[in-house]
Amino acid sequence: MKASQIIAKAVKEGRKSLLETEAKAVCTEYGIPITKFKLAKNEDEAVKFADAIGYPAVLKIVSPDIIHKSDVGGVLVDLKNARDVRNGYNQIMKNVKKHDEKARIVGILIQEMAPPSTEVIVGMTKDPQFGQALMFGLGGIFVEVLKDVTFRIAPVTDEEAREMISEVKAYPLLKGYRGMPPADIEAIARILQSTSKLVMEHGEIKELDLNPIMVYRKGAKTVDARIILE
Ligand code: ADP
Ligand code: MG
Repeated sequence: MKASQIIAKAVKEGRKSLLETEAKAVCTEYGIPITKFKLAKNEDEAVKFADAIGYPAVLKIVSPDIIHKSDVGGVLVDLKNARDVRNGYNQIMKNVKKHDEKARIVGILIQEMAPPSTEVIVGMTKDPQFGQALMFGLGGIFVEVLKDVTFRIAPVTDEEAREMISEVKAYPLLKGYRGMPPADIEAIARILQSTSKLVMEHGEIKELDLNPIMVYRKGAKTVDARIILE
């Protein structure tokens, strides 16, 4: 399905946010790299899909009622074999039901596990005066504790994307530091520009959050994507 159809479907169903599967399909249309995934409807499918995608695998709850998946025990990473996946599937279902008995469950997402690396985040919020503001920063404590982030009003040019990356205080970490590999700055700049294009072409998007994006020596992978609609 095309991004515009995915968004229209969510609106029609009265949803204010896209499922991770939908948000990632939208990202793919704009060339934003994401982790491979398949949506399992039962335990056997979960194992079948994990076998196909490969181990270690990541399992995540997909529910229109759950926005912050790990807060409810809805994410399991580093599952090493079919038995882990089977147990994990049941564990997530149990965790989610305990949190909210009535949560509607679409399925469980089986995902390729992106190897740990430097984490960055790309976001978009709307400024009442200037419109879509893109945000960039390094993940984890850099954004949550240090608020080390930078903003530009979309559309951002390639040059502006590069400025955003180089002006965060943590920039030296992206160039490689104590065992952390130097990050593919080009790949991040491309993601910023693709995100800019995406939010400009879909004004119905109120907020977007690619958090985290794992960045490697070569390439990057978006591990989680959240899209909130007006
Ligand atoms: P949420 O933000 O809704 O709690 P995420 O999808 O971001 O859920 O998952 C929580 C954390 O689990 C991520 O921040 C990341 O550290 C890890 N994670 C999730 N998916 C993957 C993946 N495919 N590969 C590697 N790590 C992952
Ligand atoms: Mg997340």
